[in-house]
Amino acid sequence: MYPKVKPALARAWRDLQTVQFGVTPAHAVVLGPVDTATGSLIDRVDGTRGMELLRAEARAMGLAEGRLDELVRRLAAAGLLDDVTAGGPRAQAVRRRPEVLERLGPDLGSLSLVHRDPGGDLRGLAARRAIRVQVRGSGRVGAVVAAVLAGAGVGRVEVLDGGRVTGADVAPGGLGPASVGRLRAEAAAALVRESAPGRAPRAGDPDGPGPAPPALVVVAPRDGLQAWAPDPATAADWVAAGTPHLYAGVLEGTGLVGPLVLPGGTACAGCMERDRVDRDPAWPRMLVQWRSAHRRRATAACDLGLSTAVAGLAASHALAFLDGELPASTAARWEAALPGLHWERVPLRPHPDCPCAAAAPAVGAGAVRS
Ligand SMILES: [Zn+2]
Repeated sequence: MYPKVKPALARAWRDLQTVQFGVTPAHAVVLGPVDTATGSLIDRVDGTRGMELLRAEARAMGLAEGRLDELVRRLAAAGLLDDVTAGGPRAQAVRRRPEVLERLGPDLGSLSLVHRDPGGDLRGLAARRAIRVQVRGSGRVGAVVAAVLAGAGVGRVEVLDGGRVTGADVAPGGLGPASVGRLRAEAAAALVRESAPGRAPRAGDPDGPGPAPPALVVVAPRDGLQAWAPDPATAADWVAAGTPHLYAGVLEGTGLVGPLVLPGGTACAGCMERDRVDRDPAWPRMLVQWRSAHRRRATAACDLGLSTAVAGLAASHALAFLDGELPASTAARWEAALPGLHWERVPLRPHPDCPCAAAAPAVGAGAVRS
């Protein structure tokens, strides 16, 4: 074991006996009481020394036997300890790729805050490398989402889209001006390759993605209407297969992220559509007109700042989900409209008539029959 105090949290003495690790409340931890000698010992727990050497240095500093082991235990219990040798075989495979570690240093620091156990950062990155994600759409939102996911270490990112790149698809972080005229699917695949840190893991690599279905589909259509009012028929296969999917897009002056749909657990496209019809009987008639108008229109409104924010937030929510958490877009749509851009949460409830059965009470939940 080569213990290391997580470097991602800035250290400060609150008083003579208390150390605070971290500035922001979400991840800050207070450790105390800590005497001055133990405080100096903390500085040496930096991943360059094994336990034997640290024990010898503690003795040389005049600290009692067992003090180092106790400190390491306390740091671990507080989620502050990393171990540069921990994480298992997949983490070891990542350690053998220095170009990946260098590029993703800040992301590893961030993962170390979310995964509290020693080696959790590398385990988290190794898990990302074994994941396959599909992104539907390669416009201002979709291409940026795909680039960010690949850049953040997701092992395989596939982008599905038809037609050829137009000038309106070009966005910083997404498809570049040189890709105008190329097939969208090809240009997006090249973007994903360029965005990945080092060579992407291949099938068969110890740290590569397997043949499993995508862990997540990000639905980021160039036509924002398809994200705002998604077609239940398009989502039917994902709902049937239990594939989680996340909607994101820009429609007129409104950006939206969510919902993240967990089929059978949270509201799906069919639930959303039924709920809208319940609240507005004219909805189906208008939706037909909007869809045909959108098919005819050459260029829709889309604010570049808003589409970039939507892409960034959607990618971050996708990563949180892929890392094993449930982000705030689960069962909710976050919306921000120009020019104020307040992010607002719209909760989405499962509809009792939807065949996805998310509204059905879980078996054994003891629902009251009436
Ligand atoms: Zn549903």
